[in-house]
Amino acid sequence: MNTASKLKQKSKRRRGMMGCAGDLIKYPHSAWQKEATVLNMNEHRTLYIHIPFCNARCSFCLFYFGKAASGQLDIYVDMLEKELEHSACKGKLGSVPVNAVYFGGGTPTDMTPEHFTRLLSRLKKSYNLTNDCEITIEGRVAGFSDDKIKACIDNGVNRFSIGVQTFDTALRRSFGRIADQGKTIDLLTRLHSYNQAAVTIDLLYGLPGQTLETWIEDQRIATEMVPLDGICHYSLGVPETVPLAKGIINGSSPAPPDENLCYEMYKAGEHYMKNIGAVCLSVKHYALTNRERNANNDISVHKNSCLPFGIKAGGRIGDYFFYQTGAFDKYCAMVKEGEKPIETARKVPADYRVCGILAGQISRNLGINVEKAAAVDEKHKGAIIESTKHFLREWLSERLLLEGLNGWLRFSSKGLFLHKKMATELFETIADVYYMN
Ligand code: SF4
Repeated sequence: MNTASKLKQKSKRRRGMMGCAGDLIKYPHSAWQKEATVLNMNEHRTLYIHIPFCNARCSFCLFYFGKAASGQLDIYVDMLEKELEHSACKGKLGSVPVNAVYFGGGTPTDMTPEHFTRLLSRLKKSYNLTNDCEITIEGRVAGFSDDKIKACIDNGVNRFSIGVQTFDTALRRSFGRIADQGKTIDLLTRLHSYNQAAVTIDLLYGLPGQTLETWIEDQRIATEMVPLDGICHYSLGVPETVPLAKGIINGSSPAPPDENLCYEMYKAGEHYMKNIGAVCLSVKHYALTNRERNANNDISVHKNSCLPFGIKAGGRIGDYFFYQTGAFDKYCAMVKEGEKPIETARKVPADYRVCGILAGQISRNLGINVEKAAAVDEKHKGAIIESTKHFLREWLSERLLLEGLNGWLRFSSKGLFLHKKMATELFETIADVYYMN
């Protein structure tokens, strides 16, 4: 069995490009307070604000929280504003530099112009946003009106990330997206016309019913018919619990493309981007103009600190991951009491630093250099290099990796396509080194 097949079969997932487990701790609030006082001025960090509600569910989505009841979004924004204000007074949270702010969801673009104005003003008043702070609003096409866009831009938003997924109207409708191709192009053109913010989109490959031709047509529309600054290519996973998975099982939805076709799509997307001179910022993200930096993702994937705000938001400061409550009433009650609405926290595992450096190498498409990453931990360096050797040899022989200069191993196209699974293998092996030593 070759590595690609073995990786596909592996089910254990303790480590990954974005996530990693750690041991639950007993006193999350004390940990938060302690870490808030020892934040490092030099570290690059992000601030994440979660807007959990969506007006409609996309059938592939694992993160759907629910539709906001009448007046619920107003209450939520009140609470968020309070949480931002209170937290800034704790330790150094209000004084350390914040390099990127991300409004994610859910659907942040369902908020009103007043909501945007209040939250963005609070951020500027209470936090030390760097001069080059990237402020991103994530959203979808339906409902993102001009008055909302204007409120964002007037209050410092400099990046919009729109989850287009595909421009194909029939495909969009098949998974629950309301806006058609014309409306999607219209929104992106309007966002660009303000000449104030980067406009970037997500495109998905691996959608049921998608063909290589529709995927390539998505690339053409994105680069020839819309004035974009950035494009992100994501592969679609279909977990068993999402409505789409049920549709595939009962035959009401076509099966998703198999792995070979997904790889063809990946290669075609990569080839298209190279040919139009797009700059590869990460293994899946391309800049089409110099306005796009992708700073939030870049800082996050290097496993730097993230200050979490809102229901179900997760983040990390210092030695702990923090997870906020997912219950609306509990969230409101805790915020009203002036408490940080943290539900649980986990201790960052010992391998986190080395794996963070490797995740940064992989994400930036630099390749893999285990020796360089392991150099930050003299004690475990030898064991890390020894234990990962056989993977690297195997991946070289299967041409997932190619020899580069100065000890770097570069990804081939197939390697890039499989980079998440390869990273998991590598990180889990390194985690074992720490468990055993
Ligand atoms: S808009 Fe985003 S969060 Fe909401 S259901 Fe669709 S994919 Fe999920």
